[in-house]
Amino acid sequence: MFRLDNKVALVTGASRGIGRAIAEALAEQGAMVFVNYVKGEAAAKEVADGIMARGGKAEILGFDVADPEACESAIAGAAKRAGRLDIAVSNAGISIDGLVLRLKPDDIERTLSVNVGGAFSLARAASRVMMRARTGRIILISSVVGESGNAGQSAYSASKAALLGLAKSLAREYVSRGITVNAVAPGYVDTDMTQSLTPEQREALLKAVPAGRVATAREIATAVAYLASDEAGYVTGQTLRVNGGMYM
Ligand code: NAP
Repeated sequence: MFRLDNKVALVTGASRGIGRAIAEALAEQGAMVFVNYVKGEAAAKEVADGIMARGGKAEILGFDVADPEACESAIAGAAKRAGRLDIAVSNAGISIDGLVLRLKPDDIERTLSVNVGGAFSLARAASRVMMRARTGRIILISSVVGESGNAGQSAYSASKAALLGLAKSLAREYVSRGITVNAVAPGYVDTDMTQSLTPEQREALLKAVPAGRVATAREIATAVAYLASDEAGYVTGQTLRVNGGMYM
């Protein structure tokens, strides 16, 4: 079940954290994976080399998701080289935190252009290929705070809420073309993004998670692998929450 043999996947922001775990999980299920990064070429290479060392197929693909032209041409080129593109995961994301009156307009704009603009660009470029094939899986990585909100994370939460509307609208646009579009909304996951929390913030956060612990990146990746599979073909426009009961 949930095998992805002969499929081609692209994961943005796959050099570290959740994206890395997603790339590894999709490769483990048999997919050839394009590992995107923006700065971390060496880290992305390590991910791709690790996949290949375990008998999988992977290639690194550097581009800034906030640059629509770069995104478009890299994805079109990758799909052409591989002969197809079955799975596109919009995972690259940034979080610039601060109370709303302290955020600079540039911080808000950068957060929206990476997190929302990047998802739009990926979905547009991938769906061009998928529409011709009349099959595909687009998965957007949102966040629990896109639904619950979070003081000090207004730009980030707004960007993650936008992805839920985007997933539902694209799901409606593409359902007749065999393309599903879903969001995954993780709770707190142990990655570089959450390393900046103070011990007090961490303790307060854990109190808000009924499961009593943060998630592993692997736990998010396996949810993505399910949505990417043929078995999830009737699931579209949904938000799969993987948050230890933090928000229901
Ligand atoms: P992370 O450890 O900070 O890694 C971010 C990844 O995104 C890196 O691979 C980075 O590439 C890439 N990236 C950043 N800006 C990019 C750009 N402009 N173009 C291309 N790639 C870019 O983050 P994470 O915690 O794994 O989070 C991954 C996703 O899950 C994000 O969308 C985040 O919002 C979401 N999420 C995370 C949590 C959590 O608790 N960690 C919870 C809910 C949702 P480089 O290495 O090249 O910089």
